[in-house]
Amino acid sequence: MAEHLASIFGTEKDRVNCPFYFKIGACRHGDRCSRLHNRPTISPTLLLPNLYQNPALNAPPGPDGLPMPVDARKSQEHFEDFYEDIFEEMDKYGQIEHLNVCDNLADHMVGNVYIKFVDEDAAARALQGLTGRFYAGRPIMIEFSPVTDFREATCRQYEENTCTRGGYCNFMHLRPISKGLRKDLFGRYKKKEHSRSRSRSKERRGDDKGRGRDRDRDGKGGKRESSAERRAKIAAWNKERAGGAEAGH
Ligand SMILES: [Zn+2]
Ligand SMILES: [Zn+2]
Repeated sequence: MAEHLASIFGTEKDRVNCPFYFKIGACRHGDRCSRLHNRPTISPTLLLPNLYQNPALNAPPGPDGLPMPVDARKSQEHFEDFYEDIFEEMDKYGQIEHLNVCDNLADHMVGNVYIKFVDEDAAARALQGLTGRFYAGRPIMIEFSPVTDFREATCRQYEENTCTRGGYCNFMHLRPISKGLRKDLFGRYKKKEHSRSRSRSKERRGDDKGRGRDRDRDGKGGKRESSAERRAKIAAWNKERAGGAEAGH
């Protein structure tokens, strides 16, 4: 009996638990869902719903009344700046295993950011640290997510460019980042394993210098924000928090 229950838990056959919430951490029915959304009280994974604001979805209308097309390169730069912002902020709380951003269009998935830490204590610290803060002028929502296996949650057809459900697919369409950025960000953990004796702060300073020289990651050209500009933007997270708190009381 117990085995039978385990095999249907979180699947379509499970009449009690919502399979979408269980696998993807988001369900289009939200709190009105007829099945249970079992919110974990602790998890290595955090969900920041709707955090990424895709400029292509908010483009101003052109002369024909349709949203103006957004340059693909600029759009990817905008996304990668966002990705780097989130990574740097989250890295303060512990080692990041996965940072995934959804390109889906449905309300419950658009711009969702999933971040899985190597250990759940780091996730708990991040949840505490980011609760009540603002990003780009909007309050940050943040919760523990039941998602721990992204292979189960991700749309395989999308990765093969054959998903016919487009932006309204119920599985995650994860927006890719360039290999250069991935190496820049996640590469630090490999370095750390080789030089555990060096202090963390020394390492961080070294990293910043390296990245400052290496802005043009893929050799495709295009000016990215300088390190100083980026640091100012991250500092603004806290200023916005202070401003938001004043406005709220
Ligand atoms: Zn549901
Ligand atoms: Zn899909």
